Amino acid sequence: MSIVADTNWRALAQSLKPRNQAFINGQFVDAVSAQTFPSYNPANGQKITDIAACDAADVDRAVTAARRAFESGVWRDLKPLERKTILLRWVALIREHQRELALLETLDTGKPIKESVNVDVASCAAGLQWYAECIDKLYDEIAPNGPSSLVLVTREPIGVVAAVIPWNYPLIIGSWKIGPALAAGNSVILKPAEQASLSSLKLAELAQQAGIPEGVFNVLPGLGHQAGQAIGLHPDIDAVVFTGSTEVGRKFLEYSARSNLKRVGLELGGKSPHIVTEEADLEKAAMYVAYAIWYNQGETCNAGSRLIVQRGVKAKLLKLLEPWAERLAPGDPLDPTTEMGALISAEHCQRVRQYIELGQQEGAILAIGGRQLRPESGGWYIGPTVLDRVQNDMQVAREEIFGPVLVVIEYDDLEEAIALANDSEYGLAAAVWCRDISKAHLAARRLRAGTVWINAFDHTSINAPFGGYKQSGNGRDKSLHAFDKVTELKTTWLELH
Ligand code: NAD
Repeated sequence: MSIVADTNWRALAQSLKPRNQAFINGQFVDAVSAQTFPSYNPANGQKITDIAACDAADVDRAVTAARRAFESGVWRDLKPLERKTILLRWVALIREHQRELALLETLDTGKPIKESVNVDVASCAAGLQWYAECIDKLYDEIAPNGPSSLVLVTREPIGVVAAVIPWNYPLIIGSWKIGPALAAGNSVILKPAEQASLSSLKLAELAQQAGIPEGVFNVLPGLGHQAGQAIGLHPDIDAVVFTGSTEVGRKFLEYSARSNLKRVGLELGGKSPHIVTEEADLEKAAMYVAYAIWYNQGETCNAGSRLIVQRGVKAKLLKLLEPWAERLAPGDPLDPTTEMGALISAEHCQRVRQYIELGQQEGAILAIGGRQLRPESGGWYIGPTVLDRVQNDMQVAREEIFGPVLVVIEYDDLEEAIALANDSEYGLAAAVWCRDISKAHLAARRLRAGTVWINAFDHTSINAPFGGYKQSGNGRDKSLHAFDKVTELKTTWLELH
């Protein structure tokens, strides 16, 4: 049975009662101020519910609970096997409730239900499982210091960790943050983006059922300049692990400097170059170029948004993209066959449209798409779009559009392609297509990006680190390297004579 095809999603949506209160110290509660903010369904523009708008008072309550839980040892001092067992129970519950979680994700973000089930919920469960499994397999170190001393290098949880996440992949990015933080024994406060809080609140309900002790995992929905800022400035939070825009990432560094110098891990924006050489398998490259920019409506931090293509194959590659653009035309996100859904909000849709206009004013040619679609739905849809004849210094080549808009830049030799690719303030990801593997590998070495794919795009696994060079951030999510953001290293020196 296929869960995606065999579920009546519209009927399920009718009966759904999303949680809309904050989750603090093991209880679902209203904001202290009793304020709320509305959450809309991007597919039809209708309000889903009003959600507790947490502010500094709620952040304070959550931090107090999180600190108390941390100091009591109720979580960090559990035997590794016990902590692992509770987290694996949570994972099992997430899988049991995959329909509801996927539906909440689709209603909140506008992404296709097929992706919410197969990618978002599945990756969230797999990611949390991976970190749970690490708990009793990670060994500490002994520094090689000769016979007269024993020098232990041990990892300890940092304390209270706040995870502040964006709206584009709440379940997946949430799991990248809370997985290592909880596995290491920290207390966690998760702040979802105001546009997409519902799946995080469901995770809280399941965490409670799984037996995660009160205060150890809290979820604070709220607006960025209220809840987000209060987290950034709080004197008793030890680390913030943030994913979002470069602009807000910069603010978190300022908040840290103005408060307690809390550690700040940043996963920020991107403008990832996708280099296609004349030596590429063009048919295959076309499919990857399409999904690299149009998957998730282009609302992906590492989207392959700059196509840097060798002059001799550009026309052929653009021709090969046309059927993909048709296939990925937006549809109702609750239809199991839909491959592209709605953009997150009316404002964002308008912003993407403005970039498409701007590109043309700057001299680009609109080669595919560019229009707002499905207006009768009341939702916010823009189809696959290609801006051709773009120069790398145009605004549409430099700024993150965060929509389904591919810009096409031509080059003559690979040196030039690498220079164009690196000429960006971002450095999150890159790809190069070339059948000559030595050439491709030499190019990959010189691309300044946290992830470089050769003859692929967006292949990913929880055991490979993910993060950015330059203004795409610092530190890494996923893999064992993610523990660096949420743990301290302690040296214990024991003299033996
Ligand atoms: P955003 O930066 O606007 O918001 C991210 C989070 O920060 C939200 O929870 C928001 O409420 C909070 N926030 C907003 N303003 C704040 C403020 N003044 N103080 C404190 N907190 C504040 O980003 P977004 O629009 O939700 O997401 C899109 C951005 O996220 C894009 O730039 C995208 O590239 C980036 N992103 C990066 C990655 C990555 O791994 N590098 C992954 C996904 C998304």
